[in-house]
Amino acid sequence: GATLGVLGGGQLGRMFVHAAQRMGYFTAVLDPDADSPAGRVSHHHIHTDYADVDGLARLAGLADAVTTEFENVPAPSLENLSVARPVAPDAGAIAIAQDRIAEKAHFTRCGVACAPYAVIETAAQLAAAPDVLLPGILKTARLGYDGKGQQRVSTRAELVDAWQAVGCVPCVLEKLLPLEFECSVIVARGRDGQLVHFPPQRNLHRDGILAVTEVHPQNMPKTVAQAAINSAKSIATGLDYVGVLCVEFFALADGSLVVNEMAPRPHNSGHYTMEACDVSQFELQVRTLAGLPLAAPRQHSPAIMLNLLGDLWFTAGGDKPVAPRWSEVLALPGVHLHLYGKIEPRRGRKMGHLTLTGATLESVRATASQAATVLGLPALSAADLA
Ligand code: ATP
Ligand code: MG
Ligand code: MG
Repeated sequence: GATLGVLGGGQLGRMFVHAAQRMGYFTAVLDPDADSPAGRVSHHHIHTDYADVDGLARLAGLADAVTTEFENVPAPSLENLSVARPVAPDAGAIAIAQDRIAEKAHFTRCGVACAPYAVIETAAQLAAAPDVLLPGILKTARLGYDGKGQQRVSTRAELVDAWQAVGCVPCVLEKLLPLEFECSVIVARGRDGQLVHFPPQRNLHRDGILAVTEVHPQNMPKTVAQAAINSAKSIATGLDYVGVLCVEFFALADGSLVVNEMAPRPHNSGHYTMEACDVSQFELQVRTLAGLPLAAPRQHSPAIMLNLLGDLWFTAGGDKPVAPRWSEVLALPGVHLHLYGKIEPRRGRKMGHLTLTGATLESVRATASQAATVLGLPALSAADLA
């Protein structure tokens, strides 16, 4: 049988492995962690650093094609692998997605508007940053996720301190926008250029981390949804992208949309596709990698996804983690529990998620509220997901 390889052994890699195995593939995971969520469920697990040439050679020896589950793999490692095997997405797309400066330049090239921003790579650029960008968010150009590497700044003095606090590495300063809501779109593009998309997801973040995703045509204006789909498609086509790509957007009060960032892989906001769509984002990742035809996915149920962070294991207080009461949640209708097999719960760490499906948006929202109450998650108000 054919073997599909993935760089990275986190939860996204694990769900890729599950989808690949269901379709009859063997899998090979490369991750520095000897006990990673994906490594533990994969046929082959190469336990080395992402830049280790021997490890990469072993992966190329095992796998017929290689993808990635996170954007911070060194682009040279992908170049190295691509000499021997098809790699999707390719090093060029990953290099752009892992650097906010290159990413925003790409969005602009594709004619998709970003939040107003300035590149801060030098002290001169810092001094010249326009006042209209304050209050703003200083974001490191590389290696940020879940709001890490981001600082809100209101004054020039705070901006200077914030840049120093991150060691004066390349950053972007973005204007802090009043967000009406956030949404994202997942597209998949094949080697032949075939391009399909999922319906736009409405996302709620708490403390910079995705907390809730709701997917139903009623929850955003049609014009906004269509604009998001069109923009995501231009961004993918502009990269000659192969694989699954998620693009995050900010919707503003005047009905306009600006792009936030992209992820060159399946995305947390697309987990609902496993139960609420006839083809999941992970199956499309498998299909793009294996050169199989893509089918336009159809959502067959309204869906809400609730992220389960490590904090839930500490709601009783104390330092010892205590597992949440899953049986009370699973007694509710249309509940799909995913736990990623991470050994150690930590605050702010993504441990799993719940997807809720049902006949109507109202019933799914009602179940989501009950599940949130049982688990001690913050209540979902109608204003959160209007
Ligand atoms: P991810 O885990 O999605 O990769 P990240 O660390 O790359 O997150 P961003 O997506 O840039 O971070 O920002 C995280 C969240 O912070 C956004 O989803 C949004 O809620 C808020 N945010 C970021 N930039 C802005 C902005 N310019 N104006 C208002 N809110 C913002
Ligand atoms: Mg990000
Ligand atoms: Mg983001």
